[in-house]
Amino acid sequence: PIATSQPRPRRSRQAVTSWGSHHVTVGGDAPVRVQSMTNTDTVDVIGTAIQVKELALAGSEMVRITVNTPEAAAAVPHIREQLDRMGIAVPLIGDFHYNGHRLLTEHPACAEALSKYRINPGNVGKGDKHDRQFGQMIDAAIRWNKPVRIGVNWGSLDQELLASLMDTNSQRAQPWSARQVMYEALITSAITSAQRAEEMGLAGNQIILSCKVSGVQDLIAVYRELARRSDYALHLGLTEAGMGTKGTVASATALSILLQEGIGDTIRVSLTPQPGEARTQEVVIASEILQALGLRVFVPSVTACPGCGRTTSTTFQELAKQIDDFLRAQMPVWRSQYPGVENLKVAVMGCIVNGPGESKHADIGISLPGNGEAPAAPVFIDGEKALTLRGENIAAEFHQIVENYIEK
Ligand code: SF4
Repeated sequence: PIATSQPRPRRSRQAVTSWGSHHVTVGGDAPVRVQSMTNTDTVDVIGTAIQVKELALAGSEMVRITVNTPEAAAAVPHIREQLDRMGIAVPLIGDFHYNGHRLLTEHPACAEALSKYRINPGNVGKGDKHDRQFGQMIDAAIRWNKPVRIGVNWGSLDQELLASLMDTNSQRAQPWSARQVMYEALITSAITSAQRAEEMGLAGNQIILSCKVSGVQDLIAVYRELARRSDYALHLGLTEAGMGTKGTVASATALSILLQEGIGDTIRVSLTPQPGEARTQEVVIASEILQALGLRVFVPSVTACPGCGRTTSTTFQELAKQIDDFLRAQMPVWRSQYPGVENLKVAVMGCIVNGPGESKHADIGISLPGNGEAPAAPVFIDGEKALTLRGENIAAEFHQIVENYIEK
């Protein structure tokens, strides 16, 4: 028989990010987590809290906020307070660059209110200063019992490390390519920083690594090697993936290949929002990637055919969208009300060619009448033909059938 396909199991250590009694485990056998980042000025407490809430309700299990100034650090505990007041327990991750050592030391309330610190080893100073400032951030993590993400990015790579690797490379009989040296610098920066943090007393399961690049093949190469050389939990993301379709496809391609190989414990889809596009779109896409791979199930799935010359109207497309929108909108409430509702499968098909067959594979399916077919829409429930809808109200009646099924 042909072997079934599924993602390889992961082999990383497990880290825990928590806020209050709300724990989000990352790595080990925990589900791959979705995270995102705000684009508000952190000083704007209300605006940031509202965006964090929107991202959390869209399915982001951790939300990163930039902490770039003393004012932003002072705002963090108030953002946390606002979220707690709204009943949003999502952990907040502080994103630090250049001055994180000072902010974490001088603003203890910020250090405490955050659930994880993101440290970029390429941005914590040079030489002795680097070691001292990196050490101060790790000290804060130990003091407040917080996990850290050591997040290397090829746009802000440790230049001293890169220069030294280039020197070594020039002495090789067969020098590596500039790209290979860059990969080595990214991975070395992440792993040596993590080892240094462990030497300072931070537990290995409090460390998550990331090495973000903006090219799909680069990301695959770097993360395969990173996973081979360490067992720290890994955060995956194609940085600066770009806008719209390009960014979505590039992220889905890179992340899917790695996730299928069991690499990656949390993911972020970094999209540049287009004017008018909700920030939450990146959370929806990240969730869809995990759901498409069969790694997580977040929302009921609606199967719909693309339509073709056999369909004379767009009724089935409209119905498919309506049902999909409705199911997604209800999920925040339904999740606790109807356990397992996310596993529901609905099919909305355009004619009898594939309609009844696809409907039988779903929990509930409808096959709308195609061009030249009798004006009847057979409905299948749990694989059996249950009834046939006719007339002007097919959409509304099917909608009701789906609601009744969920309630039942
Ligand atoms: Fe066309 Fe029917 Fe196939 Fe839909 S199910 S794509 S309408 S043939």
